[in-house]
Amino acid sequence: MTINKFAVTMPDTLTHAQVMRYNRHIVLPQFDLSGQETLYRSKVLIIGLGGLGTALSQSLCASGVGSLTLVDNDTVDAHNLPRQLLYTSQHCGMKKVEAAKAQLNVINPDCHIEILDVRLVDEAMSALVATHDVVVDCTDNLESRIQINKACWEGGKPLVSGAAIRFEGQLFVSVPAKQTSCYGCVAHVFQMPELSCTEAGILSPVVSIIGVAQAHLVLQTLTDFGTLPAGQLQLFDGLTFQWQNFTVPRHPNCTVCQGSTSAL
Ligand SMILES: [Zn+2]
Repeated sequence: MTINKFAVTMPDTLTHAQVMRYNRHIVLPQFDLSGQETLYRSKVLIIGLGGLGTALSQSLCASGVGSLTLVDNDTVDAHNLPRQLLYTSQHCGMKKVEAAKAQLNVINPDCHIEILDVRLVDEAMSALVATHDVVVDCTDNLESRIQINKACWEGGKPLVSGAAIRFEGQLFVSVPAKQTSCYGCVAHVFQMPELSCTEAGILSPVVSIIGVAQAHLVLQTLTDFGTLPAGQLQLFDGLTFQWQNFTVPRHPNCTVCQGSTSAL
């Protein structure tokens, strides 16, 4: 795996043109110029570029996050297009990371984008997690989610997890520095979906709702506005358009957050 470890250093302050571009953020007193400059200096790792990752990356790129790393080893297929709105018919057959980078560069040329056409394994994932401020899990299987949770917890990095299937979505944020529960605790208490979208189906807007909500939680994690719902599982039911919120305590049998406190 090769990545230049963000040799590009983003300036600490925004140009006049950038201040004008992000004016609607900057006038928010809870966000302010300092929040926008924090975004510009931030590096976000996005694992998975399906429906969640494309909605999320569009929002983060347009919002002014300075650096994104996109990880996915899949190619664009026609059956992706109804819900992976960053891609067009012309991208079918292209690697998702390459198509996404091209599209995101058009949305906001100020955003520095690294791409990795790989499926990450333990050591490589831990090394990559260590060079980012926030990690976003946009994968579509439980095995990857557990692996990402472990790497983030051991590296002391905030993790924003999302999942969507059928008409249902879920969100969870863990922050090791705040001693929240982790995604492993969630998996101990709540039954996680094991079917894939291929088998069970997914309604297009549901996955976009969850992906954009993940973007909101990333901005909140990076700039600390309001109250971040860390350690809380948010469940979305698209059949009734209702959200439910559950506080998830640390599970005594979770080997991830109970077994290691060195990152705290
Ligand atoms: Zn845990």
